[in-house]
Amino acid sequence: MNLVRRVLTGLKSLLVGLGVTGRHMLRPVVTLQYPHELPDVSRWGGPIELVTFPETGTHDCIACNACTRICPSDCFDIAGARPPGLKKMRATRFVLDFSTCSLCGLCIDVCPTETLKYSAHFDDAAYHRDQTMNDLLAPFGDDPYLSGKLT
Ligand code: SF4
Ligand code: SF4
Repeated sequence: MNLVRRVLTGLKSLLVGLGVTGRHMLRPVVTLQYPHELPDVSRWGGPIELVTFPETGTHDCIACNACTRICPSDCFDIAGARPPGLKKMRATRFVLDFSTCSLCGLCIDVCPTETLKYSAHFDDAAYHRDQTMNDLLAPFGDDPYLSGKLT
């Protein structure tokens, strides 16, 4: 009797499991065959990066360090210098440690010049810790304010 009950319980469990599997087989596919298929990044919140403003062709970081102070994970290493004749500082160093960033977005909220945003990067995996130190100024090259091209 005990054996019959165990067989029936096992059969019931099997049918329940097959039912769950069957329901999921009929649902739309949500996984992607990465890297052959790439995700839609239009609403993606990837690692923080600096905004490029079309009017100047560069970022607008004034090295105020408001982001450094609000960051709960101590991600930022920022330094700045004042270009000749300008009141505002310009960032001369802007390194963000992505390994400790929780993507909370607090830095984006407090930035007075709105020069921080989530990037569309979705594949920033790294093999070494030093590869997670993102130099956010690197894509900009020479600073046009510091070199006197923009005033
Ligand atoms: S998103 Fe949050 S954790 Fe990441 S750098 Fe900004 S404030 Fe720090
Ligand atoms: S809050 Fe904005 S302007 Fe200030 S240091 Fe951070 S990124 Fe630059």
